[in-house]
Amino acid sequence: MDHFIYRSGALHIEGVNAHRIVERFGSPVYVYSAQTLRHHVAALQHAFAPVAPLICYSVKSCSNLSVLQLLVRQGCGMDVVSGGELQRALAAGARPETIVFAGVGKSADEIRLALEHGIFMFNAESEAEVERINSVAGQLGRRARIALRINPDVADAATPDKTATGGRHTKFGIPLTRALPLYRPGRYSHLDVCGVHIHLGSPIPDAATYVAGIAAIERLIYQVEGEGGRIDTVNIGGGFPASYVSGENQLTLAEMGRVISAKLAALHAQGKRIVIEPGRSISANAGVLLATVEYMKQGWDCGIAILDAGMNTLLRPAMYGARHVMWPVADAGTHGPWHLVAERAGAPVEAIDVAGPICETGDLFAQARPLPPLAAGDVLAIFSSGAYGMSMASQYNTRPRPAEVMVDGEVAWEIRAKEAVADLLALEMAGLRHAQDAGSGR
Ligand SMILES: *Cc1c(COP(=O)(O)O)cnc(C)c1O
Repeated sequence: MDHFIYRSGALHIEGVNAHRIVERFGSPVYVYSAQTLRHHVAALQHAFAPVAPLICYSVKSCSNLSVLQLLVRQGCGMDVVSGGELQRALAAGARPETIVFAGVGKSADEIRLALEHGIFMFNAESEAEVERINSVAGQLGRRARIALRINPDVADAATPDKTATGGRHTKFGIPLTRALPLYRPGRYSHLDVCGVHIHLGSPIPDAATYVAGIAAIERLIYQVEGEGGRIDTVNIGGGFPASYVSGENQLTLAEMGRVISAKLAALHAQGKRIVIEPGRSISANAGVLLATVEYMKQGWDCGIAILDAGMNTLLRPAMYGARHVMWPVADAGTHGPWHLVAERAGAPVEAIDVAGPICETGDLFAQARPLPPLAAGDVLAIFSSGAYGMSMASQYNTRPRPAEVMVDGEVAWEIRAKEAVADLLALEMAGLRHAQDAGSGR
């Protein structure tokens, strides 16, 4: 369930008319619904209630500080994959003992930062990384809690290759067959190797892949404990799906949660802490990208709408071939949830390409998409853009990144200001001066 609804012929984000948001904050703009974010956390809490997990929100899916702060207030911990994300989580008020840290390339500085703050757990991805955490912990006189991220060689057939992370051909995790010796008690003097972590892909549309992954790590856990080790934390990662078609995802989540919780029940009953790391299932359908048609042009075969947002703003269509529902913010006389409006039978539509301003052929949001006739100045809503939207946005073509706005009820406020071109140039200005100085000395 989300809160993007057409009322009296205009898209509303909760109680706020999308047109008002573009007037106030400019275009393009990312808009998030606070109620939808809260609702998605509650749905996950409900779905996984039998194993009472610590929900560590995947910061990389949508990293705005205000989004993180809202989720912390809903009881979420944080899943970070860099020192930068760790600093975001802390700045947003996350308690260190609710933060887990994954990623294949943690630097010594990042490890030090995490140890100094006393995070809950590292999800370590290689033997070499475990060695490094041990040595940094030794230098600081601290003990670190380690979960080994296991690569169980489980891949979901329906998860796109670019986002499958649990297969043997990916760079992620430690091969299942190499893990056991690392759990040997006393092997590392400054570590408690006491957790198991998997993250199998993103998104994973059904529970069977999790069940297969959990079965693999369950065997490992019993081997570890058979040899005198102790596992206190089982982290099954993220990848729970969001619906890019309708936003209606509660049934899928509830069903997946039921099946996965049942598979985890025995481990939970032994007192092990269960952790999940949802990203898109919280943020994707909680955000929308509003963009304006700059030009309508006629191509060889069909009309092309050129938007003021492009692959620099929302990379998913270009990078993953992702399909996002999009529809004009103004649609006279319409009423109802966005996906019903967008699929309304009988609406006069024509097939058009929807593209951005970037000088790349791949800068295309949709090809031959049935849309009502568009004109320059029309505002288009690109739905389900909350996850891997702004967090993957770039400044390619020297285009400043857009503003981000939060809506809660009748109130909308800016949570990230639109960048200015001057911001983009600032870090390069010193280089110009240096070249001039060198030239004058000639
Ligand atoms: C990206 C990521 C997630 C979140 O994936 P979603 O599909 O957004 O739920 C969770 N855990 C790890 C380790 C990740 O890298």
